[in-house]
Amino acid sequence: MKGAPEGLPIPRADAMTQPFWEACAAHRLVVQHCLHCGAFGHPPRPVCRDCQGREFEWSESQGRGEVFTYMIAHHAVHSAVEEQVPYGVIIVKLDDCGGALFTSNLVDVDPHAIHIGLRVRLVWEDIADGVALPRFTLER
Ligand SMILES: [Zn+2]
Repeated sequence: MKGAPEGLPIPRADAMTQPFWEACAAHRLVVQHCLHCGAFGHPPRPVCRDCQGREFEWSESQGRGEVFTYMIAHHAVHSAVEEQVPYGVIIVKLDDCGGALFTSNLVDVDPHAIHIGLRVRLVWEDIADGVALPRFTLER
């Protein structure tokens, strides 16, 4: 997958995800961090996955990690990505932020070269005015 496909739906922030998307627009990857138990988690949720706490801060990730698991999409789930298949959908285990898991795409890599444990780093894809998507590519 390379470049923003024409017609790709633009993510819409809600009250819960607005800080995440605002950080993305500034090319900063932030992860929700529970102020009660210290757990990290993504995507943002109103209640902590571990302790049911409701107070959070946003912790910035350096955007490096490894492929925790992945799949190769052979079927376009939206007409905007029909010419992109096959492409890799990965879950990255971040090196920081408590090893939070983050779902994204691996770009500029043959999807059949993806494997668990592959080292990756964050890259940004600006898809619209003020909207950037966090993607990953090979760590070099
Ligand atoms: Zn918690």
